[in-house]
Amino acid sequence: MKKLIAGNWKMNASLAGNETLVNELRAGIGAPACDVAICVPSPYFQQVQGLLAGQDTIVMGSQNVSSHESGAYTGDVSATMLKEFGIRYAIVGHSERRLHQAESDTHVAIKAERALEAGITPIVCVGETLREREEGMTEFIVKRQLAAVIHLVGHCISEIVVAYEPVWAIGTGKTATPEQAQEVHGVLRTQLRAATEHADKIRLLYGGSMNAGNAAALLAQPDIDGGLIGGASLKAADFLAIIAAA
Ligand code: 13P
Repeated sequence: MKKLIAGNWKMNASLAGNETLVNELRAGIGAPACDVAICVPSPYFQQVQGLLAGQDTIVMGSQNVSSHESGAYTGDVSATMLKEFGIRYAIVGHSERRLHQAESDTHVAIKAERALEAGITPIVCVGETLREREEGMTEFIVKRQLAAVIHLVGHCISEIVVAYEPVWAIGTGKTATPEQAQEVHGVLRTQLRAATEHADKIRLLYGGSMNAGNAAALLAQPDIDGGLIGGASLKAADFLAIIAAA
């Protein structure tokens, strides 16, 4: 399966910085073996759409999508709006949103459904906190988070991307070992196999302090089909090195 390397810029961007970063990525990317996406903050969609024009190697994603279609939802951005700016992927259920915006499993599942309806591929994030891991709850947590999405969009579950992002590994420099990540990816694959005969085509990304030095070993695992990269997606050289490892 073709791997997917997706950058999640989080709330890090500026007009000048985006221009430099995207131009450096364009100049250095060549013909990668994997699919590549950058998930940018919504005010910059139009700018980055312009910066990416004339090529299809790097596509753009969003970091969120509204669970509503349209109407009186101040501050929300709908899937159809994303679509107008050429967005191909929408991250849903990132742990930072589950934590800071109190997004529930059901809320995340509805967002995945809204994205799919608009023809946007949701990147559904799941992952346990350090405490949950220490309490032996990892499998229970990630299966519960994914089950909500399977329950709601079961008919087109093969069209989603899943990202396993252990919360304790995000932005901490503490990466899951390839074995730890593979173990959870294996659990998720088994869960997806029970839901669809196409489970082997669903890309399961790993996210959490993935960088140029550890990417190859993580991506060599049988059920790791790509990466969701935070900090290391903000420097062209680092992100390009991860893309080259995929
Ligand atoms: P870092 O790569 O900065 O740990 O972030 C991972 C992440 O949260 C990507 O969505």
